[in-house]
Amino acid sequence: KKALLQQLKGKENKTIDGKKIMLYANIGNIKDLAAVIQNDAGGIGLFRSEFLYLEKEDYPTEEEQFKVYKTAVETMAGKNVIIRTLDIGADKQCAYFNMEHEENPALGYRAIRICLTQTDVFKTQLRALFRASAYGKLSIMYPMITSLWEVRKIKEIVEEVKAELDEQGIAYGEPKQGIMIETPAAVMVSGELAKEVDFFSIGTNDLTQYTLAVDRQNPKLDRFFDPHHPAILAMIRMVVENAHKAGIWAGICGELGADTSLTKEFLAMGVDELSVSAGSILPIRKIILETDLSQYGKDIK
Ligand code: PEP
Ligand code: MG
Repeated sequence: KKALLQQLKGKENKTIDGKKIMLYANIGNIKDLAAVIQNDAGGIGLFRSEFLYLEKEDYPTEEEQFKVYKTAVETMAGKNVIIRTLDIGADKQCAYFNMEHEENPALGYRAIRICLTQTDVFKTQLRALFRASAYGKLSIMYPMITSLWEVRKIKEIVEEVKAELDEQGIAYGEPKQGIMIETPAAVMVSGELAKEVDFFSIGTNDLTQYTLAVDRQNPKLDRFFDPHHPAILAMIRMVVENAHKAGIWAGICGELGADTSLTKEFLAMGVDELSVSAGSILPIRKIILETDLSQYGKDIK
């Protein structure tokens, strides 16, 4: 069975009736790059940058981050590398951030909320990302967005960072910038958000947690944590439609993206990208190659 999957390397992710999809990999460290290449991913759809912060006793410097991002884009040699900005807080705690105790950390000071508050930390990461984008195809993705103003504020900060780099004569590229859709609010305003960004990536782990009001960390609630809930599937459909209306692409980078029982449905919905762990790339490619949407569409719409 393994050997059969190996034969799928180098093949396009294309259904029998000709629909193509981007099949990318999720990584949490540059050490994971070897497995990504080994499994023939089309790019990196979610590079969780938290490891840079969690591994250390103090904030990672611009230079430290730049080296890691540059290595990632150079190693991926022209393939898209989507790096998510800092997403700590809630389940991911980092001592030197000196975060106060919170009653509801999942609803608390985390991810983009930290970046929009401690803008010096955010700017350091953005400088490193923009500089590294001169060395390959790098995209930046912002987590935990709920509102339009957050995206507009991010853009202002990005403009400041670019102006500072210009002033210092430091080179940078033109990274695409997208957001994660992982809150119900972002889903509901996705039509407006789509006009502001280059792409969407749906984070089904948090989207399920916030939509179903079920703590993703509590094993006692496993049977209530149901990403197959019709509410979640309807939200994915809505996000894809709103993305396409604005002419941008939409993918899924949460765990649900790797659920092979839904691959055909995602294709039928028009999902443009799936980002999954490296080991899931070839099994999903197999399903895509076996899918004929001209047949499938009949029973679901
Ligand atoms: C998600 O929420 O689905 C996601 C991909 O991000 P994380 O699991 O890192 O919160
Ligand atoms: Mg998330």
